[in-house]
Amino acid sequence: MEGKKKAAVVGAGISGLVVARSLQDRYRVTVYEKENRPGGLIRCREVQGSLFHICGGHVFNSRRQDVLDWFWGVFNRDVSFVKADRNSCIVMPGGLVVGYPVEDHLYQLPEAVQRASIRDFAAMMAKREEIRSAHFADFLEQTFGETLFNLYFRPYNEKIWRRPLTEVSLDWLAGKLPMPSPEDVFYHNFSHQEEKAFVHASFWYPRQGGSQFLADTLAECLDIRYGSSIDRIVHRDGKWRIGDELYDIVVYTGNVRRIPELVEGVSLDGLEKELHSLLSHGTTSVFCEIDPVPYTWIYLPDGEYDAHRIICTGNFSINNNAPGRLTATVEFTDEVSLKEIEDQLKRIPLHPKYLDHCYTPCSYPIQTQATRGVVRELKERLSPNDFYLTGRFAEWEYYNMDVAAGAALDLASRL
Ligand SMILES: Cc1cc2nc3c(=O)[nH]c(=O)nc-3n(C[C@H](O)[C@H](O)[C@H](O)COP(=O)(O)OP(=O)(O)OC[C@H]3O[C@@H](n4cnc5c(N)ncnc54)[C@H](O)[C@@H]3O)c2cc1C
Repeated sequence: MEGKKKAAVVGAGISGLVVARSLQDRYRVTVYEKENRPGGLIRCREVQGSLFHICGGHVFNSRRQDVLDWFWGVFNRDVSFVKADRNSCIVMPGGLVVGYPVEDHLYQLPEAVQRASIRDFAAMMAKREEIRSAHFADFLEQTFGETLFNLYFRPYNEKIWRRPLTEVSLDWLAGKLPMPSPEDVFYHNFSHQEEKAFVHASFWYPRQGGSQFLADTLAECLDIRYGSSIDRIVHRDGKWRIGDELYDIVVYTGNVRRIPELVEGVSLDGLEKELHSLLSHGTTSVFCEIDPVPYTWIYLPDGEYDAHRIICTGNFSINNNAPGRLTATVEFTDEVSLKEIEDQLKRIPLHPKYLDHCYTPCSYPIQTQATRGVVRELKERLSPNDFYLTGRFAEWEYYNMDVAAGAALDLASRL
């Protein structure tokens, strides 16, 4: 222990936990967490004997072999996890249930819609133009055709983004959405085979305790100071001071918008305004009992209600439900009051019965064309002083857990 350099990690979400564990062999690591439990976005709590994921519902898989190897080096896959295939559907206005993704299930749509959509994809095939999209609306219409854009992609995504899709930048999309060719679409419809390229086409999920189990297990061997909301980190004489403690390095996984107020002793001139103007959405997760269904995720494009998705967390592991119940999270973008929730639940399919809800003010970072440049410049100012950023909100990236873990592993290997 003695002789090792000291590292402070701010935040015990997945990013902070992974980086802290990975630094432990070379540093004396202290983690500061403002809540009294680890997990950040992946926290869960028990409500009437069922498991409520307070923001979304988290399943695990990764395209990166080194992330999978690291993860299964910590967790016992065969004992502690179940493996499941995604079984998602879309409930169209009027109640028609169609498989997800919609473009692979054209044959389940009404005949006139099928014919119109076939014409769209055939026209794209004939043109064979490279897609050049100015914004998200363009991208969706050019990739999936006018018919599916108007039927599903526009209404669904407008519920999520709460603005015209012409105002949504394409930057956040890079590598995150599959982009099927018209040939793929025809093949999947003829063969009734779905696209398997989604990272969560199949996934792992803890048998007990949901994503809180992940956080609690990762936190086990760490020195974590819970209830410590860090509001000042001072750089002086080559060291970082947090409270009364001095550190050689700091890894920050909280919200990058707060850096100008938090950090003292490094010039951030010219960056404050751009950092403060970074945009985000919140999520209201409403925990409910629903009618029994076999699905994992249910997508809701219907404009009659504001929720965009039901995450059937009760189907991820049977142990997430109190006996005889199926629980799920109904998801809304931004803050929804209890009164509005009660009104909305009456209109949402599957007769959701309210159990609890939680509002997370910052859950989705929104990128503009400027975002990556601002964060890059901030990193370039801080890292020569041994202050590092990693995580969904520290880097303002649309990371999943595994991508956040991968970024944390990459950072730790450089320190
Ligand atoms: C609705 C939804 C569904 C999702 N579903 C999935 C999924 O199924 N699979 C998947 O892989 N990913 C999913 N994700 C993404 C996943 O949640 C994130 O990638 C991941 O949890 C980000 O972890 P993080 O540690 O970077 O950030 P966070 O989880 O936000 O952790 C940051 C931590 O820092 C703490 N903190 C912040 N500031 C301070 C401070 N000043 N002092 C002390 N502590 C501080 C916070 O309390 C928090 O604990 C989903 C995300 C959302 C919003």
